[in-house]
Amino acid sequence: MHELAFTQQILWQAEEAAGAYGLKKINEIKVVLGELLYIMPEALDFSFHVLKKGTMAEEARLLAEYRKALAQCDACSNRYSWLEYGYHCPKCKSQETRIIQGMEMIIEYLEGE
Ligand SMILES: [Zn+2]
Repeated sequence: MHELAFTQQILWQAEEAAGAYGLKKINEIKVVLGELLYIMPEALDFSFHVLKKGTMAEEARLLAEYRKALAQCDACSNRYSWLEYGYHCPKCKSQETRIIQGMEMIIEYLEGE
């Protein structure tokens, strides 16, 4: 279950950011997760529940927003669903394409006191 490793990363980053802002306690963490990380929401919630104990985020809520995997074609600038078409642009059939969204793990904000 790789969600444990992701959740640990989220907690470390959140605690570091909270410390930098002089917070003592975290109440809420909002994360943005790309769908190519293949995170299962239930496993994320479970991991957070287990790992937050004894941290600044012990009583915090974790909100997650999932972003679709998107690719962009360098030949025609078309943007499309990477999970549907992979590296083949559905518009011009070029393979000069790259993933532009779907791999990210970002803490969008956190609230604390
Ligand atoms: Zn194209």
